[in-house]
Formats: sequence, C-alpha cells, structure tokens
Amino acid sequence: MQSNQRRPQFWQVAMRGCVLAAAIDVGLFIIFYLLDSPLLAWINVVSVAMYIGAYYAFKYRRNKLAAALFWIEVTVHAAVGIVALGWDSGFHYYLLIFIPALCVTTSRVKAVAGLSLLWGCYVALLVLMWFIEPLQPISPTALKSVFLFNLTVVFGLFAYLSFFYLGLVARTQERLRRFAATDPLTGLLNRRHMTEQVEKAVSLAERRRCPLSFLLLDVDRFKAINDTYGHEVGDQVLRGVAGVLRQQLRKQDLIARWGGEEFLVALPDTGSDSAAVSGERLRRAIMATDWQALTGQPIQLTVSVGVSQLQPGESLSAGVRRSDAAMYRGKAQGRNAVVTVQA
Ligand code: GH3
Ligand code: MG
Ligand code: MG
Repeated sequence: MQSNQRRPQFWQVAMRGCVLAAAIDVGLFIIFYLLDSPLLAWINVVSVAMYIGAYYAFKYRRNKLAAALFWIEVTVHAAVGIVALGWDSGFHYYLLIFIPALCVTTSRVKAVAGLSLLWGCYVALLVLMWFIEPLQPISPTALKSVFLFNLTVVFGLFAYLSFFYLGLVARTQERLRRFAATDPLTGLLNRRHMTEQVEKAVSLAERRRCPLSFLLLDVDRFKAINDTYGHEVGDQVLRGVAGVLRQQLRKQDLIARWGGEEFLVALPDTGSDSAAVSGERLRRAIMATDWQALTGQPIQLTVSVGVSQLQPGESLSAGVRRSDAAMYRGKAQGRNAVVTVQA
C-alpha cells in the first residue's frame, strides 16, 4: 500500500520526461546559437513550446494529445536536424528512444504498427540523405560537437529509461511477492508463507538448541457474530484481532491467519511457560479491546488459545497439532482460556 503511494503515476513520469526533453532542447538552442545557426536554434524554441504544451496536457490528463505532441516534436525535430545538418549530426538516434517506449506502453499490435512506422521514417531519412546534401551544413568540428551532444543525450535517455523500467519491474515483483505471502483480509502471513517461515525458524531453533513455541488462537463463537451482525462486521473483527496480535507480539514473532478465524503464532527463543504468558496477554488484550468502537456493534470477544513447545525432532505439523489439541481443550473447558499442552 505504502509503496503504491510512493510510486509515481505514469503522467507524473511523463511530465518529468517533458521537462527533461525541454531542457535538452534549451541545450540545443544554446549550441546552435553559438554555432551561428539561428534557424536551427529557433526550431528549438518551437520544440520547447511543444514540450510545455505536452507537460500541461499530461497534467490535465489529456494523455493522447500530450503523446501526439511528444511524437510529432521528436520525429519532426530529428528529421529537420538530419535534413539541415546531415546524417552525421546523430539526430536520428532520438527516434530510437521510441522503441522501448512503444513496446512497453501499448498493445502488441499497436506496438508492431508503431515500430514499423518508426522504422519506415528512420530508413526514409537515411535513404533521403544518400541522395541530397545537408541544407544548412556546419563546419566539420561543429558537426562533431553536435554529434557528441546528441549521442551523449541519447545514452543518458536510454540509461534513464532502463532504470525506470527496472524500478517498475522491481516494484511489481515486490507487490506480487507480498500479495503471495499475505492474507488479503488481515495483512498477516498466509498459511503457505507461514509454513515456509516457520520451517526456517524450526531449523534455526534446532541448530542453536533454542526453544520455539506455538500459540494457536481461535475466536470463540465467531459464527454467531457473522450470523447476528453480518459478514462485514465479522471481517472487521478479524482485522481487529490481527491488529491486537501485531501490537502485542515481538518483531521476531511470526503471526499468520491459519484458517477462517484461527491464528497461528510462532515464538522463537521462547519456552512453553513464557509462551503461555504471551498467550494470556493476548487473551486479555482481545477481551479488553473496545469492539463496539471498532465495529459499531455491542460485541464482547474472547479467544481460546492452545500453547505448545516444539519438541526435539518434532515436525512443524506435529507441534501445531498439539497446540490445536490444547486449544480444543480450552473450548471444552468453557472457552476464553489459555491451555498449555506438555510434550
Ligand atoms: P468456536 O467457539 O467453537 O470456535 O465456535 P465458532 O463459531 O467460532 O466456530 P465455527 O467453526 O463454528 O465457525 C467459524 C466461522 O468463521 C464460520 C465461518 O463462516 C466464519 N468465517 C471463516 N472465515 C471467515 C471470514 O473470512 N470472514 C468472516 N466474516 N467469517 C469467516
Ligand atoms: Mg471459533
Ligand atoms: Mg475455528
């Protein structure tokens, strides 16, 4: 969620692109002014004006207009640069920037059509320059400087684009990873990811000969909450329970939504006595929570908690099964209880 808020929107990135492109054209304006090519210099003023237009079009979400301004500017500017100064000015490189942009931003069919058009423009310019001389030639040294400037800018733009797409992929991967690992309702670990994490914790505990305990916590008479107040309120309660668990437990403890209204906690470096103390703290915290404030309904919530300490050589599922059995003993004893099972 947070990374979502930090992630710049497409139009924000596009607006940044307009500023960057306008800055490049200001650089070109200065270069051509110094090279005494006023015509080419003033073309850049038109370009900057187009980028300002595109900037505001993106700002007001007229994305199609903005993209058209961008396309026209880059294509016409590259063509004018080539026709005026020759192929060796390197203006054609700017057209290549469209290759990744087209592939990433539109459908495959449109991208192929756009790429074909782009290739056509590129080759047409190349062939044209085989047959005509540049209309506004500049000195060989000046031409080399212009080439170097254009090459450097296009290098920079490709690097920027690559880092931008890399960031996009990395953020998407992170979102998917989090999505696959967490329960969407409570944001706690889901059962699959919890199993993976606890298995790691179990091997670590065995290697370091440290205790590891489980708390299996089940909401008492939860079905009645759903039946009386509706599923939505039931969901609010589950989110609330998850919040209490997060608040009450340590950073290194693993907390998962194990089933419908069942939560599993793995407590590393904790024996069954301390685990029972934690279980009791959770039971009291849930009972003390103002559920009316949270859900708007007069709910009194209790939980039953089973506690077990993992025994040497015992599997994760066997350890959890024992805490499950302890929890059911708590239910049988009248609920709202913390029961520890001995090995
Ligand atoms: P006990 O004290 O014996 O645990 O009784 P209980 O009513 O809590 O247990 P039971 O297993 O009979 O009911 C659990 C209910 O939890 C049934 C199911 O509809 C509900 N439930 C499971 N997942 C969700 C969920 O994601 N949201 C909501 N609102 N309810 C759920
Ligand atoms: Mg229950
Ligand atoms: Mg249950």
